Amino acid sequence: MLKRGSVMDASSQSKKAAPARVKVGVRLRPYMSQEENKLQNCCVRGLDDQSLEIINWRNQLETMKYQFDAFYGDDSTQQEVYARSVEPVLSHLLDGQNASVFAYGPTGAGKTHTMLGSPEHPGIIPRAVKDLFQMTRSENSSSDHWTFKVTMSYLEIYQEKVLDLLEPKHQDLPIREDQDKNIFIPNLTQKIISSFSDFENYFIPASQNRTVASTKLNDRSSRSHAVLLIKVQKREGFSPFRQFTGKLYLIDLAGSEDNRRTGNQGIRLKESGAINSSLFVLSKVVDALNQGLPRIPYRDSKLTRLLQDSLGGSAHSVMITNIAPGQKYYFDTLTALNFAAKSKQIVNKPFTQESNHMPSFVPIKRQREGKEPSTTAPQPNKKLKSESGEESPKPTESSLSTFLKTEGLDSSVVERLLNLEQMLMKKGLKGIPLPRTPKGERLELKRKVEESQIVIQELMEKQRELEAKALAADSGLDQSPNPGDKCQTPEHDAFQCKVKPLQRSAASCTIQRKQAIVQPLQVQNQNTPVSPLGEIAIFKKERLKKKVPCDGSENEANWGMNINADVVEKTRSNLLHILNTGDLKELKSLHKIGDKKAKLIFGWRKINGPLSKIEDLQEIEGMSAKMVASFIKVNLLSNL
Ligand code: ADP
Ligand code: MG
Repeated sequence: MLKRGSVMDASSQSKKAAPARVKVGVRLRPYMSQEENKLQNCCVRGLDDQSLEIINWRNQLETMKYQFDAFYGDDSTQQEVYARSVEPVLSHLLDGQNASVFAYGPTGAGKTHTMLGSPEHPGIIPRAVKDLFQMTRSENSSSDHWTFKVTMSYLEIYQEKVLDLLEPKHQDLPIREDQDKNIFIPNLTQKIISSFSDFENYFIPASQNRTVASTKLNDRSSRSHAVLLIKVQKREGFSPFRQFTGKLYLIDLAGSEDNRRTGNQGIRLKESGAINSSLFVLSKVVDALNQGLPRIPYRDSKLTRLLQDSLGGSAHSVMITNIAPGQKYYFDTLTALNFAAKSKQIVNKPFTQESNHMPSFVPIKRQREGKEPSTTAPQPNKKLKSESGEESPKPTESSLSTFLKTEGLDSSVVERLLNLEQMLMKKGLKGIPLPRTPKGERLELKRKVEESQIVIQELMEKQRELEAKALAADSGLDQSPNPGDKCQTPEHDAFQCKVKPLQRSAASCTIQRKQAIVQPLQVQNQNTPVSPLGEIAIFKKERLKKKVPCDGSENEANWGMNINADVVEKTRSNLLHILNTGDLKELKSLHKIGDKKAKLIFGWRKINGPLSKIEDLQEIEGMSAKMVASFIKVNLLSNL
């Protein structure tokens, strides 16, 4: 039975938790067959439930002894390993702290058996997920103070690439760090799970996406590091609406290979190289931590970057080192034991991830006033942590109490309002009957809403990325032809087509701003002359017969613009004036003129004197007629 502190303990956990050493357990797997038993002598032996000895290869009469937090002999059960090494760290998750469990050891030594197990002998992963749900349910039933949300993500690191196992089309995802030093993976799929069967529904098919290949040593030897991330979010139902987020990483590492022994060749050899190098960096990270070096090489591999939290970081970490009994594993066993021995010296600094969330009933007054939504106001003696990137949304509004405090109301009024709020919340949770929709449906709906929020968050992030790319492409225009032209060529790539509407919309914004000044603006027939009153007229072109390849371009292609000739002439001469007299800064203020082009124009002017017309720009090396035409068009439009 899991022991948990009362729910109120959570509030007292908001300070930094005590440092926690990485806990290391070693598990010896049994001989797998009579044959294996007969052929091999055992070179390793358990002494008690914490220590073991291994024959010294330099002198067969000697043994070397190792001591760990736990030693599990070849007859140990899955339950034993889980209960002793893993269960104790789980409770921290509900208090907003992170935990990591990873299986290390040579291929074939039992890592996957320990982490995943089999239906008859379930391993750490199914046990931990089941217990987490059990823990949230028992807290829920003992008090209605907190609500829980559990999400899962599942990824593998294969040849230094992060692959999303829940959404295999997400390949080679980047690993980032937010301002609070939380490691996160933008765009990594996360699914809300509300029961163990939910978890299985996602996990089982995703596991089949794992890259497995056969080697001589182990038929289903995993060639990649598999990382399951379970996130538990605990929200308070009353003011101050605290929110704790704990992350649990469950990691099944690939084994380090001796290529000569496994008979690996070609791609397998390359895989082994990649696996070895990331495990080699892992070893360097552990060494650097133990030596107290100022620079820890987390960034040197994807694996260590992801484990940054778990090694010398903020997580409660458990490492299970799996070893095999046979003589043929001797050197792998020795290496694994030495790695385990140095890992147990690492001390992590766990802390609580706490923030405040906004209950749905609080009026969003500040937003209506058109101000930025305020973020969580700090509370005394509490370390408030915002959440990382898109892994989960940041708290956006303050709670009612924070809001009232900032409004500078009389304290007695504030107190009465807060009491009222508490009363309403209690009624909402206990007294007021809920809608008659069956509970299952309500939960399903709730889950869908939450999933959509995650998707929206991801889409927003993608949009931001695209906008950034579009801006970057725009600023690099003086190096390349008109981006609009790219889209019309058949060999245009998807990215160019995607960013095109954004670039266009930026340009059309400029036009619209000018339209507000130039009156009147009318939609006319293409042949209609420019109105004598107006300076610009927009007309609709004849229907195009040819299909325009990119989205959005068809719209633009259907519209044209007539501009009063005098205005054009005036604008052209202004532009020419800037080209002939402007300094570098002024030149760069023109559209499509970057640093390089500005210098070219400046230099050309010095040698050849002023340009007689804008089109003379073509004489400058590197400026094609097309480029100049596009330069004139954009600058005329924006200066009109
Ligand atoms: P790894 O993931 O380290 O490459 P596996 O977990 O695949 O190794 O284990 C190799 C084989 O040994 C598998 O058939 C597995 O079921 C078996 N095995 C490993 N550890 C144990 C154990 N403690 N008890 C029974 N069988 C085990
Ligand atoms: Mg494995």
